[in-house]
Amino acid sequence: MLRIPEHGRSVADVQEALAGLRTHDVPWREGRTFGYVYEGGGHIDEVAQHAYMSFLYENGLDPTEFKSLLHLENEVVAMCIDHLRGDEQCVGNFTSGGTESIMLGVKAARDRFRVAHPDAVPEMVLPRTAHAAFHKSAHYLGLKVVITEVDGTTFRAVPDAMRAACNENTALLVGSATGYAHGVVDPIPEIAAIGLERDIPVHVDGCIGAFVLPFFRELGVAMPDFDLSVPGVTSISMDLHKYAFCPKGASVILHRSRARRAHQVYVCAQWSGYVLANAGVQSSKSGGPLAAAWSVLQHVGRDGYRARFAELLDTTRRIVAGVGEIEGLEVLGQPEMALIAIASTDPQVNVYHLSDLLGARGWHVQPQLRVTNSPANLHLTLTPGHTPHIEGFLEALAACTEEARRTETPAPPEPLLAALQQVDLSAVDEDTLAQLLGAAGIGEGGALPAERCVVNQLLDAMPLEARNRVLRFFFNGLFVPAE
Ligand SMILES: *Cc1c(COP(=O)(O)O)cnc(C)c1O
Repeated sequence: MLRIPEHGRSVADVQEALAGLRTHDVPWREGRTFGYVYEGGGHIDEVAQHAYMSFLYENGLDPTEFKSLLHLENEVVAMCIDHLRGDEQCVGNFTSGGTESIMLGVKAARDRFRVAHPDAVPEMVLPRTAHAAFHKSAHYLGLKVVITEVDGTTFRAVPDAMRAACNENTALLVGSATGYAHGVVDPIPEIAAIGLERDIPVHVDGCIGAFVLPFFRELGVAMPDFDLSVPGVTSISMDLHKYAFCPKGASVILHRSRARRAHQVYVCAQWSGYVLANAGVQSSKSGGPLAAAWSVLQHVGRDGYRARFAELLDTTRRIVAGVGEIEGLEVLGQPEMALIAIASTDPQVNVYHLSDLLGARGWHVQPQLRVTNSPANLHLTLTPGHTPHIEGFLEALAACTEEARRTETPAPPEPLLAALQQVDLSAVDEDTLAQLLGAAGIGEGGALPAERCVVNQLLDAMPLEARNRVLRFFFNGLFVPAE
């Protein structure tokens, strides 16, 4: 077993070791990776790094002792409330990311529900396109998820279906602005109206879209209302570590009122140590992400964001138009954000195969599995860093589509597919699961077959619940102590 080194290593030695490790990561700095990292360019990096490092050791555990952090948080939240057209009653908190913001929105709704229904299981009505973080929150916080299918052409939530899914235990309704997968805005005013009708809180997931959409509106894009100006919207999550170009660990959760936020706060004064009072999930936390987020917002400013998003809008439109010209491909829905889902219209073109072919040429896109009425597709998250690479990407996409059409799609072994049809994956033991995955070229410790499309086809062929079981098994095997 690896041990903490008996003799400490020199600064240079440690730094060199670190630098070497990154060589196998996705090459995100080259503008050929469509996801994970959001680059704003200019001097953002410099501003963020300086602020992050200056507040590296400050502790957000106690905002009464670290008044600088309380000040920064209240300023960041105020700017976000203003951006999303909230009023003086609105409040919010800085969090570590979209998942934490969503978890807090769900917790606030759950605890509000519990006041009136101490013994019932709270339910959350989720469109199919709502982010996985809501499912995770329901899992952690003990809510029941009720899924409604979205429109199969626009990929927007269907308010009537959501209304029909409500009952006396519904504690929260969710809409996205925009959803991650297709980049479209759900009909938030209609969803919020259901909330008002039935006194149910409505959370808008603006993690990826809410920061950008107001700027797109300023740039002349027709934009439905989705923010705190809509009556009935009670909370919104918005990430700063995505399109506000802040380093990771930056998001906000905003609430309509202090009374609603009260259900988010956790306090414990019945143990033997300090009084613990947390607005979020984390307790001790570095001041770095908050200081960096505040500094990036100050440095870029509305004019800087507007200029970047004007370029982003243009880039998005050019890629949507370019994909439309490639025979055998289509863009799903009408993206209202810099998020694009590309599906195949030609049975000879398998998108997972296409993804592998693009990967071999150094272009990294994100496969999205088929779910109910959303077909298998490839996702692009565009940022200003992609602008110089539009032509190159579209050429590669066209060439790889042609290659995917001409060549055989590597497929999972027939016996394996047959075996999958026969076993109930949610019931098989771990050994059987390891054998099945081994047959597909998936080994312990994260070894994947060179042809990822084989794995994605297998996942596609499984019932949704079974996918979760298989992936949990795989992930559990990924993190094994180093030798
Ligand atoms: C990214 C994202 C989230 C989750 O945010 P994390 O920062 O990854 O925790 C939630 N909702 C949407 C729409 C997102 O795009």
